[in-house]
Amino acid sequence: MDQASKIEEAHRLAALHGLDILDTEAEQAFDDLTALAAEICGTPISAVSLVDHSRQWFKSEIGLGVSETPRDVAFCHHAIQTPDEVLIVEDAAEDDRFRENALVTGDPGIRFYAGAPMRISGGHTVGTLCVIDNKPRALTTAQINSLRILSRQAVANIELRKTNQRLAARNNELGQFAYRVAHDVRSPLNTSKLLAECIVEDIDLGEYEEASANVGKIIGQMDKLNTLTSELLDLTKADLADLKNETIDFEQILRETLHSQTKLIESGEISVIENVRAAFPLVAPRVRIEQVLQNLLSNAFKYHDPKRSHRFVEVSWTEHPKGAELQVTDNGLGIPTFAQEKIFQLFQRFHPGHANGTGLGLAIVKKHIDALNGTITLNSSNAGSQFKIWLPQSSATQASP
Ligand code: ADP
Repeated sequence: MDQASKIEEAHRLAALHGLDILDTEAEQAFDDLTALAAEICGTPISAVSLVDHSRQWFKSEIGLGVSETPRDVAFCHHAIQTPDEVLIVEDAAEDDRFRENALVTGDPGIRFYAGAPMRISGGHTVGTLCVIDNKPRALTTAQINSLRILSRQAVANIELRKTNQRLAARNNELGQFAYRVAHDVRSPLNTSKLLAECIVEDIDLGEYEEASANVGKIIGQMDKLNTLTSELLDLTKADLADLKNETIDFEQILRETLHSQTKLIESGEISVIENVRAAFPLVAPRVRIEQVLQNLLSNAFKYHDPKRSHRFVEVSWTEHPKGAELQVTDNGLGIPTFAQEKIFQLFQRFHPGHANGTGLGLAIVKKHIDALNGTITLNSSNAGSQFKIWLPQSSATQASP
């Protein structure tokens, strides 16, 4: 596998895992599709197969009797390499690619295979809807078309499932959200009120230095409120659906974003490594890319490790024909393993003593990436953190017909 294919495969797997469907219980909606596919094509075997890292896992299957098989023998692994075509193997025993395959030579004795790739929004092909027989056969044009239709139906079910999960999570969030916002707004207001009362006393007693120090503290509390309200606004903006697509000049966005961190960079405390490979400019709403980069970069700076002598933040941006990959890497404090699952939820903070923040930045990032049908993965240890993001071209954000 070449480097570009490896990157694409890593993001394809991230998209598949993000669907939260692997190893879940059987569901009628998928069982209906496999039943219909077997009926229409007249085969004893049919499956909705999802191609994972080293296995294909069946969300629904008829006639196989197993929940998964190794990927290296999977016909579906071949089928997803050509996402726009239905892979048809009329007689596997006569086909050089499959004649030695263990599923052909041994159980279940596959001879015929037809698999229609399932391509989700964002452009990744996560698996196939396939029919299998243990004798050679051919399909009519009408049967092949039906297989395509059923595969699109399977994609629609997969995406509906995910949307329902997101809505349930959001409902859950909403209750906590109102409480947290009220609390986070009230706390600086109450503190400021107390400080203002102190200032009145300070002035009465002629303690002007003390009064001035308390004014400084009030300004600090107002800054906190200001950050919170702008991040709440950013969070709301991330939910807007009708942001205009533009051709992205990443180099320029990076310049502007780094500008806000010049103090740390110029002081030599943190060096910045830039690695921008622009070849196929991404088309997407600019504000989303700006916000993703801004939040990831400011975290990479904020959560640096003061004990490390050489601190760095690396930003890589590589444009591919189908999308762009962004990586933000630092050798900072790292994110504890237990926290990594929660990191994209609202108000989660794991280094509160180290830097100021609201716990909204990564939730904003996640919302933008979801809106772009992209994926985000995190690798973190006490050596530092790496966020890897895949952003598909806007044309790929529509599920293929
Ligand atoms: P905030 O920075 O306002 O606290 P975020 O949502 O941006 O909120 O991040 C949530 C938490 O994740 C942070 O409080 C911090 O504990 C952790 N975090 C995020 N990025 C990094 C990073 N690059 N290195 C270490 N910890 C990080």
